[in-house]
Amino acid sequence: MSGADLTQLDTVLEADVGIVGAGPGGMAAAARLAAAGVRVVVLDEGQRAGGQIYRQLPVGMHNHGVVQEPPSHDDGHNLIQSFEGHAKDGGEIELVRGATVWDAQPGRLWFEHDGVSRLLRCGHIVLAPGAYDRCIPFPGWTLPGVVTAGALQVMVRGFGVVPGKRALVVGSGPLLLPTVTSLLGAGVEVVAALEASSRMRALRAVPAVAFHAARRREAMWYMKQLWRNSVKLQWGWTVFACEGDGRVERAIIGKVDAHGRPRKGTERTIECDVVGAGFGLVPSIEVGMRLGADTHMLPVRGGHCLVVDGEQRTAVATVFAVGETCGIGGAEVASAEGELAAAAILRELRGTTVASAVVSRARAERRAADSMLGAFAPLPGLHDLARPDTIVCRCEDITRLRAQEAAAMHGDSMRAIKIGCRAGMGPCQARICGPSLQAMATGVNACAMDVPVVQVPLKPVSSETILTAPQ
Ligand SMILES: Cc1cc2nc3c(=O)[nH]c(=O)nc-3n(C[C@H](O)[C@H](O)[C@H](O)COP(=O)(O)OP(=O)(O)OC[C@H]3O[C@@H](n4cnc5c(N)ncnc54)[C@H](O)[C@@H]3O)c2cc1C
Repeated sequence: MSGADLTQLDTVLEADVGIVGAGPGGMAAAARLAAAGVRVVVLDEGQRAGGQIYRQLPVGMHNHGVVQEPPSHDDGHNLIQSFEGHAKDGGEIELVRGATVWDAQPGRLWFEHDGVSRLLRCGHIVLAPGAYDRCIPFPGWTLPGVVTAGALQVMVRGFGVVPGKRALVVGSGPLLLPTVTSLLGAGVEVVAALEASSRMRALRAVPAVAFHAARRREAMWYMKQLWRNSVKLQWGWTVFACEGDGRVERAIIGKVDAHGRPRKGTERTIECDVVGAGFGLVPSIEVGMRLGADTHMLPVRGGHCLVVDGEQRTAVATVFAVGETCGIGGAEVASAEGELAAAAILRELRGTTVASAVVSRARAERRAADSMLGAFAPLPGLHDLARPDTIVCRCEDITRLRAQEAAAMHGDSMRAIKIGCRAGMGPCQARICGPSLQAMATGVNACAMDVPVVQVPLKPVSSETILTAPQ
């Protein structure tokens, strides 16, 4: 539908429940609510349901090769099928594709859709906006061809783009494995896969994987893919720098110590035309904060996360939060929490009980994820990779040295650094540089970061959208 086709009436939608995000968390909540006859509107920036992990190609596009999918994606396809079944004409779910939520109040979500400013009025809100890639700046990270692991997934799986011929995959955490297999499926040679955590540290994840049937099956599947394609995961290695004339042509790689600090004398040069750097994920909390939810800092879950009670309710009684916005945990956690939030809302709307199995599944999935991800929590020493002239804020072109000078002159807080040098004040609003900026400017522990300041618009939208926002 084009903007011109929308009548004044269309600019305001009404629903019992409004959901932000059509990933596993949002889809699971929506499908359960819809099955009970509750009218749900789901808003998502993407063009298809699935979120980041079950990303689908836009309608009408075909893939360039065979992107292999791990066994867990069968659950994802079933979830998408159930969600889309309820979203067919006349169904209980309305999915608004390409809808960017830029402001929120309890009971109201403002979004830009097809260039038109729209409003969703709803009794309850479920937040499932997912996460962002965690970027760790290193010399050459802004060269064309150097992208985050998540962005590589989006290119290959979301748009069928083959990003190069020889890829280097670096970083830390479970997302490295799907990145490697997607690239292999797209016919890209993976010249090396470097995990910054040591093998010893990674062993801490073994019990959480070994005693969880789905994760165990998943890990075996990835190991088989790597072995078949002769890709060896190198533990305790990372990228020190990327170089090239106008785009990445080579990377300097080397070993890091237990804290992630680069070890001198271990450098090697490797030729490549793509580098996927994935140092974990950071929860997307801005919509929740704008709505009045509390946050807490949990390094094992990626940083500041929304606080929820045992039924996924935030500090605001009608606002629930599920999945990565409550801390990084993966698709199983997101869908289990989505079901739990839906069950709690159904109790309020329909008087039904919340089954204890639904509560225990969500708790068990979260516990298992926490103990697995502990082995890959951010390594503070990786911040030593950036040199004084390395850009740390790419929106405003601020180097590490300038950020350090700003901290020395104005103070160690995120606010002081921002005011002192404009770092974090560009279009990304510190989503890219924020998690590293304060540590790099002040030299304190990598996990120390002030709670982000949330500004409206929460995402970049046109000024026309803000000026014409329905009330
Ligand atoms: C870039 C990226 C790629 C990833 N790729 C993989 C992968 O290949 N394999 C894997 O195992 N895990 C992957 N992950 C991790 C994966 O996101 C989670 O494990 C899982 O999908 C979390 O589910 P969720 O429902 O919490 O959020 P998500 O699946 O992230 O879904 C969140 C949805 O919310 C939407 N959204 C966010 N903010 C707004 C807003 N303001 N307005 C409207 N819509 C909004 C997004 O478009 C998205 O569709 C990836 C993460 C990222 C950030």
